[in-house]
Amino acid sequence: MATIADNLQDVHRRIAAACARAGRPVQGVTLLAVGKTFPADTVRAAFDAGLRSFGENHVQEAIAKVAALADLRERVQWHLIGPLQSNKTRVVAESFDWVHSVDRLKIAQRLSDLRPAGLPPLQLCLQVNISGETSKSGLAVGEVLEVARAVAALPRVRLRGLMAVPAPTGDLALQRVPHARLRELLTGLQRDGLDVDTLSMGMTADLEAAIAEGATIVRVGTAIFGAR
Ligand SMILES: *Cc1c(COP(=O)(O)O)cnc(C)c1O
Repeated sequence: MATIADNLQDVHRRIAAACARAGRPVQGVTLLAVGKTFPADTVRAAFDAGLRSFGENHVQEAIAKVAALADLRERVQWHLIGPLQSNKTRVVAESFDWVHSVDRLKIAQRLSDLRPAGLPPLQLCLQVNISGETSKSGLAVGEVLEVARAVAALPRVRLRGLMAVPAPTGDLALQRVPHARLRELLTGLQRDGLDVDTLSMGMTADLEAAIAEGATIVRVGTAIFGAR
């Protein structure tokens, strides 16, 4: 059975090859290890293999893992990448370093209000429904600029950029289309004067396409931890 260290070597190879093809430095792409459904001990094994950025989808599950791995807290970054309800904003503001899944201004305002004064600003990305799927969470493309301006003005959070989970397709050329659209949206925010630098896009199945289009954070679960 492949170990996390073996899997990680493969993922690093994929990222390096994609960066080389795109003429980008590998340091420009952060690997976020998505440990959802896997126990805290498995995430600890990923830490031992060298990973420092961890993504979780479910708030409750994440909080339990942050607690179980409290001894690592100063050395790792916890990212929430899944849905966030208003009633969970306090615990998220207190426990995480990043939230990628902000899909309305109200949530960002609450996170800013509830971010403890002793912690650095919470780093935020706006989630965009980039493929325009009716069932998907995320801001509509046309809403992004206005919400981004408002979030950027909040005191205890820092708007870093955009995140998306495009509709899946196996074809590399087709995978690039929504990623390119998200990149263009980020460029639009930059042209508007917003200080944003992050494109959180690309998962196990499409990280090459995402890197080709400028991803700065790829969120990878299956290729590191195995099938869920
Ligand atoms: C689960 C998840 C991932 C990782 O997916 P894999 O296909 O296992 O790499 C990335 N982003 C989000 C938002 C997820 O929920």
